[in-house]
Amino acid sequence: MNIYGIIILGTLLFEFILSQIADWLNLKNMSATLPEEFKSFYDDEKYRQSQEYTRTYTRFGFIVDVVDLVAILLFWFLGGFNWLDNIVRGFDLPLIWTGLLYMGILVAAKSILSLPFSIYSTFVIEESFGFNKTTVKTFILDRLKGLVLGVLIGGPLMAAVLAIFTYIGSSAWLVGWGLVTAISLMISYVAPTWILPLFNKFEPLEDGELKDTILSYARSVDYPLAGVYKIDGSKRSTKSNAFFTGFGKNKRIALFDTLLEKHSIKEMVAILAHEIGHYKKKHIIRQLLAGIVHTGIMFYLLSIFISHRGLFDAFYMENMSVYAGFIFFGMLYSPIELLLSIGSNILSRRNEYQADRFACETTGDRDALILALKKLTVNNLSNLTPHPFYAFLTYSHPPMLRRIKAMRELKLA
Ligand SMILES: [Zn+2]
Repeated sequence: MNIYGIIILGTLLFEFILSQIADWLNLKNMSATLPEEFKSFYDDEKYRQSQEYTRTYTRFGFIVDVVDLVAILLFWFLGGFNWLDNIVRGFDLPLIWTGLLYMGILVAAKSILSLPFSIYSTFVIEESFGFNKTTVKTFILDRLKGLVLGVLIGGPLMAAVLAIFTYIGSSAWLVGWGLVTAISLMISYVAPTWILPLFNKFEPLEDGELKDTILSYARSVDYPLAGVYKIDGSKRSTKSNAFFTGFGKNKRIALFDTLLEKHSIKEMVAILAHEIGHYKKKHIIRQLLAGIVHTGIMFYLLSIFISHRGLFDAFYMENMSVYAGFIFFGMLYSPIELLLSIGSNILSRRNEYQADRFACETTGDRDALILALKKLTVNNLSNLTPHPFYAFLTYSHPPMLRRIKAMRELKLA
């Protein structure tokens, strides 16, 4: 095994062990005593249930991790990458088609492997905790729509990037970067109007007190109400949420119908204010820019390593190719990916504090946001006491008790 193989194998094992340590700490950090802040929000049974939910997903995650790790190691060390390469080359297709077929088969194999887990999580785990509303029909349609979108958008884009790296010389990374950036900006621009409605129904808010209150709040912070929608989250789960999507004229804030059912008008305004905070504090645009820079760095490194024979030797390949190079580079890149995901979680948690602060300051009502977040935490059976190391690695939002503490400490005018 050469240096590339050692780095990739090392990272796979390191990430597996790291994730198990974090899980173990997280489980150990659970205590039967309910934190003071949530005293009137849980009875013993509900609190026990929320902890059982975390335990169930931790056990489930362990099995998924083991299956993934074993599958990739077997495929790798039994020479699967080269075996598949010989098969697709045997069809004698034009070069780009060979590449698309090779990558397509690997992507398909990966999703087939994960399908049973996704079925189990939706129809057994979520079901047993009373969350699941997804029908078999919706589940199948979701997969099919995802597949069609992947083929229609991902296919041609992949073909173009393969062609760029095959036929253009040293500037391929720059051209590829430009193309991927242009396409992904276009996709995030049209996502709220063309893509997300394929999965959920977006409806403008109904006339009434809620809409009026939201309207006057939106006006006070200079945000167009036309961008606030209700979506049918209840189609899949009783969990509730709100999110921001798109940019420019196409930006939308989606409020789940499950959220509207459970929260007072004041709480809804607080949640909306938090989402608008993300926009006003420029989190959305910064995330977009960070993604673009990240793609550029990745393409540049890809262009360096894709022609290294050693990278192909590590996977027992007889022939070098751009398409296999993409896959092997993706694996070589994973230590950097791990660091970047930790970094992006740190930034994301900072953004959450800022959006909370924006909401408290502009509504002047921190209690409404605190109450709304508490209800969300209870409803979604979120873990109240994650281990700090687990939260550091994996949480895109700060642990709820930390968020509430930060809001209580704000000095509001
Ligand atoms: Zn947020």
